[in-house]
Amino acid sequence: MQVGLFTIPVGLKGSRVLCWTSSCKLHVFALLPLGDRKDSTLKTVDSAGIMATIEARASEYDAIAKDIWEHPELSHEEERSSAIYRKRLASRGFAVTEYPEMPYSFVAERGAGDPLIAIMGEYDALPSMSQACSPHQEALHAGGPGHACGHNLLGAGSLAAAEVLAEALAQGGIPGRVRFYGCPAEESLGRIPLVKAGRFDDVDIALTWHPADVNTPHRYTSSANLSIVFSFTGRASHAAMAPQAGRSALDAVQLFNLSLEFMREHLARGTLLHYVISDGGAKPNIVPANAATWLYIRAPRATDLREVVKRVMKAARGATLMTETSVDHRILAGKCDYIPNDVIQDTMLKVMEVLPLPHPDSDELAFARALQATVARNDRQATLTPINAPVSLLDEPIHGQLGDFGRLCRIGGSLDTGDVSYVVPTGQLNSATWPLGVGAHSWQSAAASGSTWAFKAMRWAAASMAATGLAFALDPKLVARARREHAKGKKPYRSTMDL
Ligand SMILES: [Zn+2]
Repeated sequence: MQVGLFTIPVGLKGSRVLCWTSSCKLHVFALLPLGDRKDSTLKTVDSAGIMATIEARASEYDAIAKDIWEHPELSHEEERSSAIYRKRLASRGFAVTEYPEMPYSFVAERGAGDPLIAIMGEYDALPSMSQACSPHQEALHAGGPGHACGHNLLGAGSLAAAEVLAEALAQGGIPGRVRFYGCPAEESLGRIPLVKAGRFDDVDIALTWHPADVNTPHRYTSSANLSIVFSFTGRASHAAMAPQAGRSALDAVQLFNLSLEFMREHLARGTLLHYVISDGGAKPNIVPANAATWLYIRAPRATDLREVVKRVMKAARGATLMTETSVDHRILAGKCDYIPNDVIQDTMLKVMEVLPLPHPDSDELAFARALQATVARNDRQATLTPINAPVSLLDEPIHGQLGDFGRLCRIGGSLDTGDVSYVVPTGQLNSATWPLGVGAHSWQSAAASGSTWAFKAMRWAAASMAATGLAFALDPKLVARARREHAKGKKPYRSTMDL
């Protein structure tokens, strides 16, 4: 069935027909000359064939997403999830290599020649977010982790895309390699050690996606950040018997935090400071010798971030002068801002336009309505306004159309894909796995990420990525355009963790 076609200009003449045999079906990619362009032929990609192959294996991909949702693992602990992906990809003809930079990181590659298309997957869960697949807040394991960022979907969807794209290239005799990146610990350190080690340097195009409440190319950028702990050291004494002998590290923490409150007014728009007192001392009758503030600093771009960090360092030193204490800092993680690539995003949009969106059944609609109703009416807009999506979408429980949101927008949060985007042309998309108005890191998103609706939307995201990858593999000029755009705006890569 020919559901839709999208066309891409390329520099070849003539026509050919590529046959792509999947495990159970034969799909045909027709490459046809359409029109009389000077040096180009239009190639036509049968996106429906990609979708059909993914749908034929729906139970397999859904089972992976469900299994990982049922067995959530925190950042740096994803032994089981990583093993599931490595085993599956090895069984589908991918050569798997584990990386030493981070536990449970790996790549799985299949194909030959150029271009090299990266598809990135994540699989870590969040602490204390255990949640049943229910419209009521109820933990499956009290205090346990849960997939409130939908990385069970993100990993399985990316895996499906990588598999199907690699098969399309192999069956069609199309040059190109597909490399699935297993990226652990997105919620903490992220793929920064892999980027710093040059693991992405030979990639032509990097693709990924993220579960969300809308369907759109990921046009928007994100904030650069730094996660840093300031540990103050003073001198302990009895708080009542000899307070004059003590030098309170907690006083230093409080003065430091207060200085950040005053600093806020004089920071550029888009700069954010948020902190917790991660060590406040042991007992009120002991002057605390040790205390610490764990701070996230965010700024629009990595270069802006470095300037803010210098000022924060001065504030920490000031607090030590006032309290006769000393301070040390420890950097936990840091991410660059994300640089979207328009050539990739435009191609993704074309692909998404011809791939039919999934339809929820009546149970899935009822579940979405019930979940949506648990988010306060005024809070539902929080997912839409930062990416300039119309709030009128909230009249429905599920985003049933394709949007094109986020151009020239920046979200407050940070993505480790940002560091990848500094090194290679990178594109992303969002798929509406969650009800409209449900945002990430909530019990509602954890509940939705285990639902049959989320699995349908995940498969649509997978097809979109695979078809995008195929478009680039078929058209070297498109790859060159994406690389040119990337080179034009290229800034030298320097991790925000390297002050
Ligand atoms: Zn996430």
